Amino acid sequence: MKKHNFYAGPSILSEFTIKNTADAVMNFNGTGLSILEISHRSKEFQAVIDEANALVKELLEIPSGYEVLFLGGGASLQFCMIPYNFLKTKAAFLDTGVWASKAIKEAKLFGEVDVVASSKEANYTYIPKDYVVPDDVDYFHITTNNTIYGTELRKDPDVKVPLIGDMSSDIFSRRIDVSKYDAIYAGAQKNLAPSGVTLIIVKQEALGKVDRVIPTMLNYQTHIDKGSMFNTPPCLPIYSALQTLKWYKSLGGVEAMEKVGLEKAAHLYDAIDNSKIFVGTAKAEDRSIMNVCFVLRPEYAELEKQFIDFASERGIVGIKGHRSVGGFRASLYNAMPMESVKVLIQAMKDFENKL
Ligand SMILES: *Cc1c(COP(=O)(O)O)cnc(C)c1O
Repeated sequence: MKKHNFYAGPSILSEFTIKNTADAVMNFNGTGLSILEISHRSKEFQAVIDEANALVKELLEIPSGYEVLFLGGGASLQFCMIPYNFLKTKAAFLDTGVWASKAIKEAKLFGEVDVVASSKEANYTYIPKDYVVPDDVDYFHITTNNTIYGTELRKDPDVKVPLIGDMSSDIFSRRIDVSKYDAIYAGAQKNLAPSGVTLIIVKQEALGKVDRVIPTMLNYQTHIDKGSMFNTPPCLPIYSALQTLKWYKSLGGVEAMEKVGLEKAAHLYDAIDNSKIFVGTAKAEDRSIMNVCFVLRPEYAELEKQFIDFASERGIVGIKGHRSVGGFRASLYNAMPMESVKVLIQAMKDFENKL
């Protein structure tokens, strides 16, 4: 049976990415060697990382003066690397969920943190709007998509200070104005590749301004100087990322992803809004197009497991909500076809009609 993969991360990848990765595991670019066993210093692998780098710059329309890095450690390592490299005295944060809170916790190790607003009191079901970012902070950190709660900041905020964005779960799903940012980071396992690599975009000019001593591996400059190869990079995930980037380009780039993404999300939100038993959890204006969170209305709440089983009989996988929220979460990352969204919508309708 065809599976419809709604996992939040690691999550669906395009068939193009998976097939080309599988081929390279057997025989990488006709070398007669597996991508798993080839030196990262070989000219063949150098070509992979160079092309991935160039495609990131092209797809995100990155202006000059920015560097692209592929590092290990996940987005979670960036929670500490960012303040290590950018926080002189004070940073501002928008607290929109667990990932934002984790970034705040690490930043506090390095300086003063001003949480300008938080939606914690409402279990992060919306993105705060009425906040003021002080002019004297080194940067303002945002989490553009809140994977667990299904809220998304779909516009790069206008503030007077540099932005830093955790875009782990919505990078490549909308056009962004990179010039507003000092740094952008994204764990690969949502919209790019298998887990193991993190994409980082940093503004060269913004580095070198802190006085503290930075350990070699945690210093962005180290990795810029060595082209992401100061030490052995995660070769396989980088190869997969390159495949996904090629696939994005072949489909028309980020603009095309955004168009389809909006359509997929609109279909599913419509189905939720027109249902008598399901209801969305995020505030309508802040709804994410990547992670759609919904629950059963209280009078039907005991049917949660029944719906998950009903859906799984149709090949629907990974719709259980995050443990801190409950209910359901359908992740509609770029690689998710509309066809799978329709299968989920049909399952919701059929389940409701048989009650
Ligand atoms: C998944 C996720 C993370 C954590 O990523 P790791 O690579 O597991 O450290 C951080 N931020 C956001 C927004 C995420 O979705």
